[in-house]
Amino acid sequence: MPGRPGPRREPGCLAGRGWAVGDWCRAAVSNKEVFVRVGNLDGRLVILTDVGAIDVERASGGQFGADPQQVYERWAEFTAWAAAAQGRQEPYDSGHLGAPAPAPRQSFGIGLNYRDHADESGFGVPDQPSVFTKFPSCITGPYTDVTLPPGGHTDWEVELVAVIGTEAWHVAEADGWDHVAGLCVGQDLSERITQMASSPPQFSMGKSFPGFGPTGPWLVTIDEFGDPDDLELGSAINGVQMQKSRTSNLIISVPQLVAKLSAIARLLPGDVIFTGTPAGVGQGRNPQRWLAPGDELVSYVEGIGELRQRFAAGPAN
Ligand code: ZN
Repeated sequence: MPGRPGPRREPGCLAGRGWAVGDWCRAAVSNKEVFVRVGNLDGRLVILTDVGAIDVERASGGQFGADPQQVYERWAEFTAWAAAAQGRQEPYDSGHLGAPAPAPRQSFGIGLNYRDHADESGFGVPDQPSVFTKFPSCITGPYTDVTLPPGGHTDWEVELVAVIGTEAWHVAEADGWDHVAGLCVGQDLSERITQMASSPPQFSMGKSFPGFGPTGPWLVTIDEFGDPDDLELGSAINGVQMQKSRTSNLIISVPQLVAKLSAIARLLPGDVIFTGTPAGVGQGRNPQRWLAPGDELVSYVEGIGELRQRFAAGPAN
């Protein structure tokens, strides 16, 4: 709590994690920090506080539109507005949250980016990022039901997901974080038979079945993290922990990924990067284990939140 007497109450302040209606607006007290959790509620861009959701189009009087994907085109302008803006905080049903970046033009996946996962996969550690795509049609929100491809071996991969805020082209590693709008949790669901079906293996199709790219539960801006390069992440199935690591174990860090990817492709506002998964996936277990109908998968990243997926059998062929 800011321990300052005097300033007027500002109910509905947009700037606060942990701020109740009637609390001081943090941005009004400190200009140094901007706290924004950006969400997608029923397809509309919102700012989320512990009290509720603020509809951005209405709160901004139309200055910003309702499309959650379009906001990244004006990210710096948006965060500056959000830091000081006021709006009505409405209670919301978290089951209606969608993906923070629901329709990216590019969706990058990075394979084998934790040493222990590279070892369990039997591929060894690559010199350059191993890049595939999760085609954007597979991207969903945080709490979903997923249909298992019949006859498949569907596996789990908790990942930190970075969303691009400003276009990156030939960006230096030292400037990499400056191009990231924020972070969310991601699941790189992977059907291993399809993933390994061709020779040499191409990963993209096995990772792009409908619902195979849950993200969320919201976007957390980089300022919110004490150290955005060192966050615990993990996953559990039916309450049993499967994966647990820290993003400090990434072989190629987020700013290094921005540098390496942008040396080849332009990274566009709203693009997403699934940064890789640590050990503990089903394929690396003995015996191997795959997601089954009725399983519930929870995936989390420290300082962001969690995803929750339930799995159901697909229609028999
Ligand atoms: Zn992955």
